[in-house]
Amino acid sequence: MTIPTEAAPRLLRGGPIAATIREQVAADVVEFRTEHGYVPALAVVVVGRDAPSAVYLHKILDGCGRVGIDGRLVELGDEATQAEVVAALRTLDADPVVAGIIVQMPLPPTIPLRTVIDILDPLRDIDGIHPLNAGLLSLGYEGFLPATAHAAVEILVRSGIELEGRHAVVVGRSNVVGKPAALLLLRQHATVTVCHSHTRDLASVVRTADVVVVAAGRPGLVTGDMLKPGAVVVDVGINVVGDALVGDVDFASVAPVVSAITPVPGGVGPLTNAILLSHLMRAARDQAQGLVPLGARSLAVPVQEIPS
Ligand code: NAP
Repeated sequence: MTIPTEAAPRLLRGGPIAATIREQVAADVVEFRTEHGYVPALAVVVVGRDAPSAVYLHKILDGCGRVGIDGRLVELGDEATQAEVVAALRTLDADPVVAGIIVQMPLPPTIPLRTVIDILDPLRDIDGIHPLNAGLLSLGYEGFLPATAHAAVEILVRSGIELEGRHAVVVGRSNVVGKPAALLLLRQHATVTVCHSHTRDLASVVRTADVVVVAAGRPGLVTGDMLKPGAVVVDVGINVVGDALVGDVDFASVAPVVSAITPVPGGVGPLTNAILLSHLMRAARDQAQGLVPLGARSLAVPVQEIPS
């Protein structure tokens, strides 16, 4: 049974937090240009056509323009071969002005993810898809985080939601959102449970959570009767249903139960974009400082410091 909370929930909006981050990034860009004499570039590589992610990528390019970062779109056609993708990535990798590279996911079936991962410099991997960055995250080091997972947890932290010692349930275990979000919640000292499509009785697990992060790609998966009264909900889902953009949480039934919730749209989405720009500036600074070279590549931390 759903026990409604007294007041309407607090809406955790990403926009104001994103604006603060963008302001800082814009200042960083000015400082960087003064110091190094150029503006760093963020390259967005698109292989083939995928309408929803094209919209997302254009938002990233717009975001670059707003803060003075040089956003570059590299479009390869549907018929692009692995060799062409490799060549495009190598060209970007060789350009010292290109500080960060994002490759549109999912790739067409003809281009294995490995094609990208084998070429992408971990220091330019500002959306944290490279195994090195995933490994650094799981070991607690400062690699590049997947921007959406980073945004999902950052919105909680910057909204002053207490995480230490609280039970956080993450619904979804993808490498880009669910898994890294769970690791970031652990970093905040939450007690974390990860659910997925094989979880038995999702409702009973979610009902034990103080904080729920939902990233399942299933519109309306989490409903009010699945939540503990007063819980905090981060809805990462972005789904197009008819003409509307909806999350993975059924806002209408959840709002009367929870104490705080991220709206869709206007929650995690805007913050993801701004966070990516902040990752780009960090990459630019790291590269300008020639951070810890290791063979042909560079690592964000010296290997010998990684604990066993
Ligand atoms: P994904 O790769 O499809 O992963 C979905 C995850 O949800 C999987 O781990 C899956 O379990 C789990 N799942 C699916 N149905 C479930 C169910 N009925 N019960 C429990 N778990 C279930 O998706 P993703 O890339 O992580 O994206 C998740 C959502 O976030 C999507 O709506 C996407 O559009 C959105 N998104 C938003 C942003 C943003 O900036 N806000 C950015 C990226 C993605 P299995 O592992 O068992 O299959």
